[in-house]
Amino acid sequence: MAQGSIHFKRLKGSYIFPIIEKKLEELKKDFPAAHVINMGIGDTSLPLAPSVAKAISSAVEEMSLTSYGYGPSAGYAFLREAVAKNEYANLEITPEEIFISDGINTDITGILDLFAPSCSIAIPTPSYPAYLNASILAGKENIHFMPCTEKTGFVPIPPDHPCDIIYLCSPHNPTGVAMDKERLLQFVEYAKKNHSIILFDNAYGAFVQSKNVPNSIFEIPGADKVCLEFRSFSKSAGFTGLRCSYLALPKKVQTIIENEPHSLHLLWDKRQSIRFNGVSYPIQKGASSCYLPEGKKETGLQVKHYMTLAKKLKDGLKKAGQTCFGGEDSPYIWWKTPDGLSSWEFFDLLLEKCQLLAIPGPGFGEGGEGYIRLSAFSTEEKTEKALERLQKLV
Ligand code: PLP
Repeated sequence: MAQGSIHFKRLKGSYIFPIIEKKLEELKKDFPAAHVINMGIGDTSLPLAPSVAKAISSAVEEMSLTSYGYGPSAGYAFLREAVAKNEYANLEITPEEIFISDGINTDITGILDLFAPSCSIAIPTPSYPAYLNASILAGKENIHFMPCTEKTGFVPIPPDHPCDIIYLCSPHNPTGVAMDKERLLQFVEYAKKNHSIILFDNAYGAFVQSKNVPNSIFEIPGADKVCLEFRSFSKSAGFTGLRCSYLALPKKVQTIIENEPHSLHLLWDKRQSIRFNGVSYPIQKGASSCYLPEGKKETGLQVKHYMTLAKKLKDGLKKAGQTCFGGEDSPYIWWKTPDGLSSWEFFDLLLEKCQLLAIPGPGFGEGGEGYIRLSAFSTEEKTEKALERLQKLV
């Protein structure tokens, strides 16, 4: 009998969405006319930018005239060059150091293939659940949690002992708070001192507004020796259903195998050529069109739309006397549950009294207790209606 992997038994967190679904079903059974507003979802709500849609269609037409076949597993040169030029100008990241992929989720989990099972891993709590689940599936047992509490400013601080791999996300999901240069420098210094590698998830980089928050971890001195940066077109350009992202992996980042230094860049290149056959040509064409003047303008307006809603939501909640964080450099609001309610108690209250759906903080790990996450990936109408309904609570 082929034995299944024992690691599946150790997975946590995936229970939350079935519970939410069940609660929604019950509400609909008791109140069939209830019109639930989903403010929890982390998926974009606007249609694809017209110039991006056009670029994808033209690429498909091109393919109807010429055979393209498989593309390079690391991505087409036109997109790697566009990313290096537009995202890393002056940061000495070259096109060969950019690997195109079909989503951060794929890479942030797959990257663990490069490291020994014995490596220790530091993960923020609360955080995007894929970090912990991928670490568990990869058989990692030495996992350290970095709390993101009110005391730490809702972002992590470096562990007080050496950890080999550090997952960081800034702007942070779910707290919506971004790390400033000083905070990031602390982590880069920590990684240099302890020979750690930082896996920096910059999924929400396009949403940053604060001046002291860098666009890239590579703005921090020394980061190009210890950091990998993951970025995506998912939220910045509405590619959640199209799938395109990239990993910036400087050639200087090294690991040790049997006492010999190895370039992580070479290892990842090898790993990708074994496991990945590339992102489709039309999707890469669509992604590269985001860097053309029309694409930049249209996708920039989409980001602005979400951030306007985030501000509206946060201002409305504050006006209603609620305590909430984030929403300034990311489209997420981290709402402290009032009156000492648990996250699930507050979730139930919001659903029953306001027909509003949020994500309870523990869905992002134990550190999320006492909070819920609201998302501004919505419409103006829904956001206003949600705020109107919230008046019933206060
Ligand atoms: N990282 C974070 C922090 C996210 O919130 C998400 C999606 O919500 C992802 C990664 C996944 O991104 P992608 O769509 O590029 O796989």
